[in-house]
Amino acid sequence: MTQVRWGLIGASTIAKEWMIGAMRDAGGSVVSVMSSDAARAKDYAVANGIAKHTSDLQALVSDPDIDAVYISTTNELHRDQHLAAAKAGKHVLCEKPLALSLDDARAMVALCHERGVVMGTNHHLRNAATHRAMREAIKASKIGKPLFARVFHAVFLPPHLQGWRIKNPSAGAGVIMDITVHDADTLRFVLDDEPTHVSAMVQKAGMGEGGIEDGVMGVMRFKSGLLAQFHDAFTTRYAGTGFEVHGSEGSLIARDCMTQQPKGEVILRNADGEQSLRLNHENLYARSLRLFHDAVAGKGQPSATGEDGVKSMAAALAAMEAAASGKEIAVAA
Ligand code: NDP
Repeated sequence: MTQVRWGLIGASTIAKEWMIGAMRDAGGSVVSVMSSDAARAKDYAVANGIAKHTSDLQALVSDPDIDAVYISTTNELHRDQHLAAAKAGKHVLCEKPLALSLDDARAMVALCHERGVVMGTNHHLRNAATHRAMREAIKASKIGKPLFARVFHAVFLPPHLQGWRIKNPSAGAGVIMDITVHDADTLRFVLDDEPTHVSAMVQKAGMGEGGIEDGVMGVMRFKSGLLAQFHDAFTTRYAGTGFEVHGSEGSLIARDCMTQQPKGEVILRNADGEQSLRLNHENLYARSLRLFHDAVAGKGQPSATGEDGVKSMAAALAAMEAAASGKEIAVAA
């Protein structure tokens, strides 16, 4: 395992709940944390066993004890923090959505290429055993030509996350930038295809404040002609999650898979009947970190690259524009 030394930009929930453990499980160490608030940085460092803390971005990105930074601040901050880290020669794993505009996200990718540092986007769902098994089954022609997909990703935003996501438009709030961007990435990965057009309608059921959408349904058209339906929400407690691909010769039906947990099941249904695919569940974030560490060591790529982050974000932005305009929108990337 590669000993990557991490600096955290953002004293966030996702880092605390998943990423710090995953970095350590994948053989890395967490050296320092940066928060905009010095006292929060210190408390967070103590609570999570991190030796150093700072409220100074430059101090963190220029720390010679750090090889890579993980950015998990609110979305409007990703770009500048990312550019500062790449300029300082650090490898960067950035949370989704990479930025608030495609031009910004592209600039982040370009700078990492220019500086020769590894860039990943934290689209964890590519690492799920369910989605990897579906991708393999499709590649092995188990369902013939994929014609339709359905993504069920309507969940309930837990009270401790009911902050900027539902209140702050300038932070990139709303269900599309939070969840649809993951759907787009998972569809791209499972289908090995690219979305070209999106139609969508949003719902504002009252959790989102000031006109921020808290539910969305829509359709993406892919290069192959496949149509993918997506349903995302912050407001439904009991819907359950799922991902289905229906082809000319069979269907793949996954349940309980659009989640942070290593769980879920996939059924293959075709002329031979039904069978459950064999799955080797593994912590999604730890797998993502393992591949990132390998990439830092010059072996392979992160599970979702910077380019993946740009393309998946382009589909989410198209969904936003489609909902706002009532038109079918071409995906820009
Ligand atoms: P949080 O709200 O927990 O953290 C975001 C920022 O809010 C932190 O960087 C911190 O700023 C500030 N903050 C956090 N808690 C407090 C507090 N108690 N008081 C004051 N400020 C606080 O966000 P998430 O962890 O949910 O999301 C962060 C990023 O990660 C987003 O980009 C999101 O889209 C992404 N994400 C990705 C997931 C994935 O599975 N890929 C899952 C969840 C989120 P500071 O650092 O300055 O203190």
